[in-house]
Amino acid sequence: MTARVLIVDDIPTNVRLLEARLSAEYFDVVTAASGKEALAICAAGEVDIVLLDVMMPEMDGFEACARLKADPRTSHIPVLMVTALDQPSDRVRGLESGADDFITKPIDDVQLMARVRSLVRLKALTDELRARARTGQEIAVEEAMRAMDSIDDDNGRILLIDTDPRHAERLKGYLAATNRVDVLTHPAEAALVVSDGTYELALVSMALGDFDPLRVCSQMRTAELSRTLPIILIAEEDDKPRVVRGLDLGVNDFIMRPVERNELLARVRTQIRRQRYAMELRRSVNNTLVLAVTDELTGLYNRRYFERHLSMMLAKAQEQHRDMAMMLIDMDYFKSVNDMHGHDTGDAVLREFADRLRRNIRGVDLACRFGGEEFVILMPDTDLHQAQGVAERVRNAVAEKGFDAGSGRPLNVTVSVGLALNDQHADTPESLLKRADVALYRAKREGRNRVVCDAA
Ligand code: GH3
Ligand code: MG
Ligand code: MG
Repeated sequence: MTARVLIVDDIPTNVRLLEARLSAEYFDVVTAASGKEALAICAAGEVDIVLLDVMMPEMDGFEACARLKADPRTSHIPVLMVTALDQPSDRVRGLESGADDFITKPIDDVQLMARVRSLVRLKALTDELRARARTGQEIAVEEAMRAMDSIDDDNGRILLIDTDPRHAERLKGYLAATNRVDVLTHPAEAALVVSDGTYELALVSMALGDFDPLRVCSQMRTAELSRTLPIILIAEEDDKPRVVRGLDLGVNDFIMRPVERNELLARVRTQIRRQRYAMELRRSVNNTLVLAVTDELTGLYNRRYFERHLSMMLAKAQEQHRDMAMMLIDMDYFKSVNDMHGHDTGDAVLREFADRLRRNIRGVDLACRFGGEEFVILMPDTDLHQAQGVAERVRNAVAEKGFDAGSGRPLNVTVSVGLALNDQHADTPESLLKRADVALYRAKREGRNRVVCDAA
């Protein structure tokens, strides 16, 4: 995971020190010697995170941070504030100015890398969401924008795992004002407790008696719904080597005892935000995919999807010398349904038809709205005799019972069906469709509400 880090410090030796450490981990480093310079670099784009020193002449780190966060062009860039150890109030001010996290001088390598990586992950997700909002399809855009705006970091669902109830209660007290925290004092139950995916963050004490905290962490990530659960370790100075191992294994961050309230809140907030962005992203990806292939009115596949799959399924059937049947369905006299009852009623009939259709075909059959009041179903491994059975079933499911289209009496609706079977060598998608269409035309001409098979 590489990223561009902007280091802002007025003292050149500090800059060089941080630059060396970050470059060694393959981060791309940019530097600035003042707050003003930093703002200009960020506004020009392409900075992933900012390491910002508090103590600088003219514009100090607090002010620089507040300005970055106030500018819509730069507000999404995570800021890691570098504060002095003997000035705890700096941390509070840093968070108030909008900093995402802080680190104290002298800077510890493990902490630096953990903080930087955690913020880089956060940035990568916001970038994805922003990009999607700009380039996605119309509906997806609006939705993604709305979702981005609505994501906050309040009310996190946190599981705190600690065998010492006294410790746990103290940490819970720090977090409870803005989060919902459950305490678990039996680490053996951790994996089960998080497996339903309701928790957004796990805080794991490294002092778990007989239990190996890293094992507890990896077990929590085994269930499908908790695979991406963010984890923060709570460590003593002696735990450092195991913390490093934990970070390698994918633990997201850690915090040292004695735990400081603001530090804990900042770290928790960053992880919860990251998790919510990740969830939103996954949801919007799924949504975009679904939207692109689905017919809005009926929820069946759309024509674009059908055309792409027809050639694939046909090629496969021919290659393996297997049957494939195509069924083309057209509603009878549908124009008069609209004319007599209105377009909305027509739409309701189309939806109800799609439901009846779905109930009368198999899961492997591919049903699409081909356009207007015309539908097409591809049935793999189906010979003409079987296909005829399905077609009759569908036709009957429509004709046997009136459609309750909202207003008044049920409407009597019928469909005509044309069937064709793939010729195992010669058919192309076009010729197969053409033969089904010819059969459908015959069904119409011969009186409608019937199934006709292609003669070939
Ligand atoms: P036939 O039995 O010969 O198929 O007669 P028909 O009236 O069904 O055929 P025609 O192709 O003349 O008309 C199809 C009608 O379907 C016309 C159009 O208004 C209606 N239609 C197409 N798409 C929709 C839709 O999305 N919603 C509604 N309500 N009606 C639609
Ligand atoms: Mg029709
Ligand atoms: Mg038609």
